[in-house]
Amino acid sequence: MRILILGPQGSGKGTQAKLMAATYGVPHVATGDILREAIAAGSELGRRVRPIYERGDLVPDELMIDLIRERLADEEGFVLDGFPRTVPQAEALDEMLGEIDKPLDVVLLLDVSDEVALRRLLGRLEEEGRSDDTPDAARNRLRLYHELTEPVVDRYRAVGRVVTVDGEQAVDQVAAAIEDALRVGSRRP
Ligand code: ADP
Repeated sequence: MRILILGPQGSGKGTQAKLMAATYGVPHVATGDILREAIAAGSELGRRVRPIYERGDLVPDELMIDLIRERLADEEGFVLDGFPRTVPQAEALDEMLGEIDKPLDVVLLLDVSDEVALRRLLGRLEEEGRSDDTPDAARNRLRLYHELTEPVVDRYRAVGRVVTVDGEQAVDQVAAAIEDALRVGSRRP
């Protein structure tokens, strides 16, 4: 199963992606987690992306595309979370999956309002202490989502591949809605 999950920060994407990965026995490939690990490890990648990450800005497309190409190279299935965030990233993903003839089975969109998203992001500040959940960085990330990632949603929508789920419900309700959506929305039974 190859699933792409899209949605704004605070939509519960990571939570649902982990649940789906466990259900389908595929890896949860989350670019944010990969970058946080690199920052924590102090690797060259980590040192390079840290200031960008902390401002809530986007890491350059080329760097992210190379990272994902390498990460997905030998995977049959995955839940992809956090990539693509820009149209060039989406083009690169379609190209790489096209080359190996392994298209996405479904594109899921978790829909939440900015108000709910921002409230959840700032709540997370206290719980997890993520260095990009400061009020300024959180607002910046949401702004960039609308500006650069929503065109990605429109792109997949134009080819009829997006299944939208209401992300403002409780976690188990969202999970149930996703399960229903996958039964209907996936090309596989
Ligand atoms: P959120 O969705 O809450 O912003 P993520 O954990 O997905 O959190 O991403 C955190 C940060 O990592 C982003 O704000 C950005 O700096 C960087 N990042 C993650 N994925 C990408 C990507 N595909 N392109 C550019 N930057 C990315």
